[in-house]
Formats: sequence, structure tokens, C-alpha cells
Amino acid sequence: MALDLATPFEALLRPDDFGLACARGGFHIDPWRPVKHAVITHAHGDHARSGSKIYYVATEALPVMKQRLGHDSTFVHYPYGQKFRLGECTVSFHPAGHILGSAQVRVECDGRVWVASGDYKRAHDPTCAPFEVVECDAFITEATFALPIYRWEPGANTAKEILAWWDQNARENRPSLLFCYALGKAQRLLGELYQLDPSRQAYLHGAMLPLTKIYREQGIEMLPTTAVSETAKTQKFGGELILAPPSAHRSLWMKRFKGADTGFASGWMRVRGARRRNGYDRGFVLSDHADWPDLLRTCADTKARFILPTHGGTQVLSRRLNELGFEAQPLEITAYDNEEDDSGGGGEAVTDPEVAAGNAPSEEQASEANA
Ligand SMILES: [Zn+2]
Ligand SMILES: [Zn+2]
Repeated sequence: MALDLATPFEALLRPDDFGLACARGGFHIDPWRPVKHAVITHAHGDHARSGSKIYYVATEALPVMKQRLGHDSTFVHYPYGQKFRLGECTVSFHPAGHILGSAQVRVECDGRVWVASGDYKRAHDPTCAPFEVVECDAFITEATFALPIYRWEPGANTAKEILAWWDQNARENRPSLLFCYALGKAQRLLGELYQLDPSRQAYLHGAMLPLTKIYREQGIEMLPTTAVSETAKTQKFGGELILAPPSAHRSLWMKRFKGADTGFASGWMRVRGARRRNGYDRGFVLSDHADWPDLLRTCADTKARFILPTHGGTQVLSRRLNELGFEAQPLEITAYDNEEDDSGGGGEAVTDPEVAAGNAPSEEQASEANA
């Protein structure tokens, strides 16, 4: 029996003009236009958008959400696992393992359970709670890296590669300029590196300061950091590691780091040619999304009858799931297309015009990945 998404009461969650809507609960999940009741999976810009009246978030996500959506927004928060009522539905947040506070949303109504995964990963991450399997009737799964070529090594292995690269550059007295997303990836890298060698320290681009501070305040262990902006003009960065968002790549800001070797840490670095075409010296494969085997494993783990892939390689994943005996069909939500193009951190003005404009490397990489 095919799932009839056209009938609102058949599907507990279905996209409308504002987002992923729950008619029975009177709310939207990660709406892209302002709504009255917005349930937010996590604080990345393509999921948490400003302007809604009331935001329902996991307690663990609250400090990051306030930073991204503004302290004047109205938040209602519940710890992971705690059930609350919205309309005729019982709703709860469950760890998604993607970034600090990231959540899957479980919605129960008339004995049916739907889960919207948001973005998730199964791999170990020292900066957030591990993914929790939530059994359900229908599972809306992300599909950002839904191609068989996407398979990740453990984050600790990537961190070891980064340490070796940093040490090699240090022997040549060159700065190591590592680009990565400002929310989640930067902190995970600092956390993974801390696990390997807590005696080191790193420098940060201004866009990463407020978010990294919030992670630290949550008790997450990371390498000690200094803001580049707080160093003396005469400061030399030879042998140092500096983290910066992709939007700072090839910007005037880079002029301070003479002879720097550049690297980019992202799941997109798994694609041959992505590093070279984007002008990075090195690519490090590190993703906060589930890889292909983990997408398939997770769909099976939920014991869901219906799987609705959204957000990325939805066709490929649906086809494979159908071959495996699941009932799967893509759920197209185009508003998530700019996933991970997350250059801003809020809180600090970005003065460099190139930085302010942003060069959206992940978009290019995303289209390469689809090619
Ligand atoms: Zn995300
Ligand atoms: Zn996303």
C-alpha cells in the first residue's frame, strides 16, 4: 500500500508552503517561512530560521539556538526524551548525533508514530550526545550523503591525519589554515584533536568565537583557542593551526597567514576533484551526516514501515530501500538545499567584504557530488 501524502490525516507530517507540517499538532518542523509553532531539529541555518512566534527546541540546543535565532525569540524547551503536547499530538526530542543539541522529532497521534530525523550521524562525536534509535511507523530520514561512495572513517582517524599535516607544516614553519563550518564541525575538530593531544592550542576566525564559547560553557572538552583578532599585529602564525569558515577562503583575511597550507574538512572532500576545484591544498573527509551504510542501517533500526528520504540523494536512497523491501518514497523539501553552507556564527560583525559576501563552496561541491 502506497502512502498517500495528499491526505493530511493519513500522513502525520507532510510538506506545505511553510515547512514540514503536522496538521493534527498545529506545528511545523524546521519551517522555512515564519509560523506560529516551530519545532526545530537543530541550529544550522537551513533548519532554524528566524521570524516564527514560538520555537520548541531540545534543552540541550537552547544556548546555540538563542545565539542563532536571537535572544528575543520565544523558546519553549524540553530535555531529550521528555514528552509534551502540541495540539492532538505527543511530541518529544531524541538525540540525532549531528551537532550539539541536535534532535530527531518524534510525533505520536492516534497510536501512530512518525519520526523526522533532521540531520543525523551514527559516528562517535565528542561534542554531542550519540544518536538514539527511535522505533516508529514512518521515518523521515535525511539523505545528504546518500550515495554508495560516501563511507566515513572514524573522526579520530581524520583528526590524526590533520595532526600529521599540522606537524608537517610546522616543520616548514608554515601556518595550517583549516576551513570548516562554524557550527558543529569546528567544535568537533577541536574536540577530536583534544582527545589526541590536549597539550596543543589553536587559533579561531571571529565567526567561530561565540559558538565555540557556548560549546565550552556546556562542558565540552576542546583544544584551548585564541581569537586571531585578539593577537598582536606582529604575531607570526608559522607552525600554528587556525580554523576558519569556508567563506573566509581566498578572502583578504588570509593575508595574515603568509605561506599557509590550506585544508578543508567536510564530507564533500570524499568526492574526487572537489578539493582541487575549490583551491584547497588538502581535503580531510569529516562529516556530521550519516554515510551510506549508516543511512541504510538506521532505516532498518527504526523498524519503520514507511521511509521518506528528504534533503539530498532522495531518489537513490528510496530506490535502494525499495530493493531492500522497505516502502520508501522521496519527500522533496527544496528549502534544505544549502545544507552545511554555514559560514556565519552571528554575534560578531564580519568586516571583510569577501567574507560578508560568502563564496558558498559547499554548493559547488554539492552539485559535483550529484554529478
Ligand atoms: Zn545540519
Ligand atoms: Zn540540514
